[in-house]
Amino acid sequence: MKISWRESEFECSNCGRPYPGSRLDRRLWCPECRGEVIRRATRVGRVVGLATVIILSLWIYTMVGPTPRFLVVYVVMIVAAYFFLFKLTRRVAFEVIRGRGVPPPLPREDG
Ligand SMILES: [Zn+2]
Repeated sequence: MKISWRESEFECSNCGRPYPGSRLDRRLWCPECRGEVIRRATRVGRVVGLATVIILSLWIYTMVGPTPRFLVVYVVMIVAAYFFLFKLTRRVAFEVIRGRGVPPPLPREDG
């Protein structure tokens, strides 16, 4: 049976599988490819965030000593820096990874 291409069906820009237009995002990526990009971007964001936490902690440790007077302030600052960098890096990584493309997810045999 020949696959009939309805007007509302588009190919995913990454894996090339046909999807109804409503399931693709505005750059024509299917939910599975998009999910893979988000997974990778989240991982990059976590690594960068964690590296920042380590560097900041070491910096504070060497600058103000192991028992700073405003320890709570530093901890809050480090946590805030983590979340800020995590979100920022994830956003940037998302665009970079998407620009490069990801290996198409393996076809699932569901149903
Ligand atoms: Zn796809």
